[in-house]
Amino acid sequence: MPKPIHGAGTGTNTDPWVRDAGCQDCGTLTPIREIDDHGACPDCAQKRWERLTPAERTAWCEVNHLHYPYQDKGPMTPEQLARIGYLLESHPFRFAKTMPRNPHWYTLRHEWQDVGDAVFEEVVRAIREHGYTEWFGSYPWRMLNVNGFKYWTYYSSYVEEVIVLNRKPLAPEESDSAEASR
Ligand SMILES: [Zn+2]
Repeated sequence: MPKPIHGAGTGTNTDPWVRDAGCQDCGTLTPIREIDDHGACPDCAQKRWERLTPAERTAWCEVNHLHYPYQDKGPMTPEQLARIGYLLESHPFRFAKTMPRNPHWYTLRHEWQDVGDAVFEEVVRAIREHGYTEWFGSYPWRMLNVNGFKYWTYYSSYVEEVIVLNRKPLAPEESDSAEASR
C-alpha cells in the first residue's frame, strides 16, 4: 500500500488519503493513494518500470515486497494451453460487483475442490510462469490470455495464498497473440 508521504498537499480536503500530491517525477497533481512509495504517479511508476532490465525488475519486486517469485517459462505447449483453458472454462466465474471501474469476473479456490488445491495452484502458476507482465494502477501484474480472456491473480500473493482468480474479456485491440509481445 502506498504511503501518503511525498509531495505537497494542495487540495482543500483535509483527509490525507484523498488530498492530491505532486508527483516527484512529473509534478502532476495526483490523489495521494495513487502515489507510490517513491513519490511517483502511476504513469511515472510505469515508465520507471519499463526502463528496468529483467534482473532489475526482479530485484525491484523483492525490495518492494510487491511481487511473488515466479520463473518466466515462455509460451505454453498447445497441450498445456488446452489443459489450462479447459480447467479455467469448467469452473464458475461471477461478476465482481464491488469494482465497477474495473469490470471483471472471479472464481474462488474453494470452488475448485472438484479438482483440488494442487490443480488450482497449477493454473495460478501457469498464469505467472507463461503469462506476460502488464502495468495496472501502480503495480506490475502477471496476465495470461486464454481463448479471448485475460486471467490474473493478486500481484503480491504467493501461489499457496491465492484464493481468487480473476478474468475479463480481452479488449478488441488485444488478442491471444499478445503473448508475442511479452
Ligand atoms: Zn508523474
